[in-house]
Amino acid sequence: METSKIDVVVVGSGPTGLMLATELALAGVEVVVLERLAEPSGQSKALNLQPRTAEVFDLRGLMEPTREYAHGTWGSGHFGGRPLSYEGWQTRHPYQVNIPQAGVERVLEDRLAELGARVRRGHELLDFTQNDAGVTAAVRTTAGESRIEARYLVGCDGGRSAVRKRLGVAFPGTDASQFAFVADVAFDALPAAVPTRLRSVSDAIAKEGNGKGGAGGLIPLGEPGLFRLIFNDPRAGQRDQAEPVSTAEVAAAVERLFGAGAVIAEIRWASRFTNVTRQVEHYRVGRVLLAGDAAHVHFPAGGQGLNLGVQDAMNLGWKLAAEVQGRAPAGLLDTYHSERHPVGARVLHNTRAQSMPVDPAPETVAMSQLITELAKLPEANRHLAGMVSGFDIRYEVDGPDHPLLGGRLPDLELPLGWASDLFHPGRGVLLSTDPRYLELARPWSDRVDATTLPELPDLTADAVLVRPDGYVCWVAPADGSPSDTTDNTKRLDGALRTWFGRPQDTAQVD
Ligand SMILES: Cc1cc2nc3c(=O)[nH]c(=O)nc-3n(C[C@H](O)[C@H](O)[C@H](O)COP(=O)(O)OP(=O)(O)OC[C@H]3O[C@@H](n4cnc5c(N)ncnc54)[C@H](O)[C@@H]3O)c2cc1C
Repeated sequence: METSKIDVVVVGSGPTGLMLATELALAGVEVVVLERLAEPSGQSKALNLQPRTAEVFDLRGLMEPTREYAHGTWGSGHFGGRPLSYEGWQTRHPYQVNIPQAGVERVLEDRLAELGARVRRGHELLDFTQNDAGVTAAVRTTAGESRIEARYLVGCDGGRSAVRKRLGVAFPGTDASQFAFVADVAFDALPAAVPTRLRSVSDAIAKEGNGKGGAGGLIPLGEPGLFRLIFNDPRAGQRDQAEPVSTAEVAAAVERLFGAGAVIAEIRWASRFTNVTRQVEHYRVGRVLLAGDAAHVHFPAGGQGLNLGVQDAMNLGWKLAAEVQGRAPAGLLDTYHSERHPVGARVLHNTRAQSMPVDPAPETVAMSQLITELAKLPEANRHLAGMVSGFDIRYEVDGPDHPLLGGRLPDLELPLGWASDLFHPGRGVLLSTDPRYLELARPWSDRVDATTLPELPDLTADAVLVRPDGYVCWVAPADGSPSDTTDNTKRLDGALRTWFGRPQDTAQVD
């Protein structure tokens, strides 16, 4: 049997696997992506990038190609159909990007090819074993079975993950109690109540299930008459997931949501889904890690799953690269689990809340209307928007409390361009108005790019150290005293060691 060797095997070429592979390849890690399908399916479950994912794409220069496949933007998000404003977050992307999942995968696979790595299609992971030295994967291809030896293996193989099952990790959560479907439908005629132009995805959603029970909407797909129908009838009984969605079901759902008048020309693609909600207890077991839907599944409410997976990958990529290249500080790779498990748990929690059944019982309707009222209050709206967009993600980082510490660096317009451009190489970034901090970071210049600036616009800081994934891990607050500077300097040294490892031998630094 043929055996090949590689640094990292990524299983699955969905958005999570592709994002992770591009991050590893960018760092110079040898990576291969195994994909069991012989060709891309071309199907798109997800239709959007949340604002934080758009920012993450900016950090790697991926927004320009993304625009080629996008159908535009939606000015806001939604929480269970209630509009959310993304304004006021110091962002260049206060909106969702309307791009089908297949477009996102195309953008990422093109980038992967530019970086010299590729997806091996028609390669299905069958099994693996691991020991202290590495992982051996058994793979089925059209030419027979082969073996790959790797230092690490990452399961990005979706909700039914073979890697997760083989690991045997606990996957606690709740079983399906709601049975919904999605269908891409070409219409010859539509009920008058269907909105054809959306400012927000929430415009597409029939309000309060039109008072007849059931929730969902029709989202235009960028071609005249073509819409994505999503329909959830909380009274529907258990369905076989493999049972095809019939034209009669589609017609009945459209009538329930928007009234009579639809003429269906063709159902191009349809699939059933449920509110099964589960998350693995451990994202890492030895040399095997899980990311994306392989680590967590939930009701697709609010358009968050793809975004969660891409951001899992962004968190994991630079840490795994450092580990493989022998420059990771102790414990760095384990922060992937400690940082991303709570973020995933929060999405599971909010999607459960969003899938509260909207049935005609007066109590449920009253609660739903009350939440609608509350969501209009600016503070409540901001809270929900921060959660769904990914803007409010904050990792636990040592240091005195500061609004920036542990959170995303907002994209700043600097004299030489956008701050996000500085992250394209996938390294750490130190921005400082004080040359002393830059001097201190010189022994890390192989891992951290330092830039001196006359000021840091719109930040209450004299300097910030930012990880390759765009999260701030050290801050020198603005207008500090000389003793603060000594303290800041000590903390900067600590942060560089914690996130980037030991300094280079200073004699080697020019
Ligand atoms: C109806 C619906 C609508 C949705 N809408 C949205 C939305 O609007 N916004 C949003 O953000 N999210 C949405 N989601 C969720 C989103 O689609 C998923 O979260 C996303 O696909 C997860 O990406 P992934 O890469 O982790 O997994 P996947 O996309 O499932 O990719 C896994 C890949 O692994 C491959 N694979 C599986 N097993 C093996 C194996 N043994 N060997 C090799 N390859 C293997 C598969 O073929 C697949 O290509 C929606 C989901 C559903 C069901």
